[in-house]
Amino acid sequence: MEQREAEDARRRHMARFGRRDTAPELALRRELHRRGRRFFVDRQVSRRCRVRPDLVFPRARVAVFVDGCFWHHCEEHTHLPKANAELWRRKVLANRQRDARNQAILTSEGWRVIRSWEHDDPAAVADRVEDELDRWTAILRRRPERVGRHRNRRGARCQLAPRLQSVTSSGSEPALTR
Ligand SMILES: [Zn+2]
Repeated sequence: MEQREAEDARRRHMARFGRRDTAPELALRRELHRRGRRFFVDRQVSRRCRVRPDLVFPRARVAVFVDGCFWHHCEEHTHLPKANAELWRRKVLANRQRDARNQAILTSEGWRVIRSWEHDDPAAVADRVEDELDRWTAILRRRPERVGRHRNRRGARCQLAPRLQSVTSSGSEPALTR
């Protein structure tokens, strides 16, 4: 029942602090907006898990998470409360395991997952996001040569989806990449 305890703790935390629209999330959103990037916020992207990435770029299949230092256990800022230390340790560990599971599912479905910490510089995170989006653009640009000249743009794009998944999916890699 560890999982359930962790979920309960998470719900309590959300009720107290609110999961959405934390200051670091807002800073990243502002930065990307300023650079002309458009995206969805807090949206479920997979039927196999309920995880809702903080930012979603559906066309490029890029999902961005801004992880809180405490709940996702950043090495620099996590100081677990001394009381019930073992319980807290288990809760945070369960969170990290859930992060890894969810990320593996999204990756297997062709999403490129970008994880950042709330303590990260928003401009640096925005750079990483843009790198990923630019890779998509590069793939899209190369595509017409492969499908031939007679296919229209829309057709080419429909054809692209399955192939892109095989390009971007790194398979069964549950490790969290930052
Ligand atoms: Zn931190």
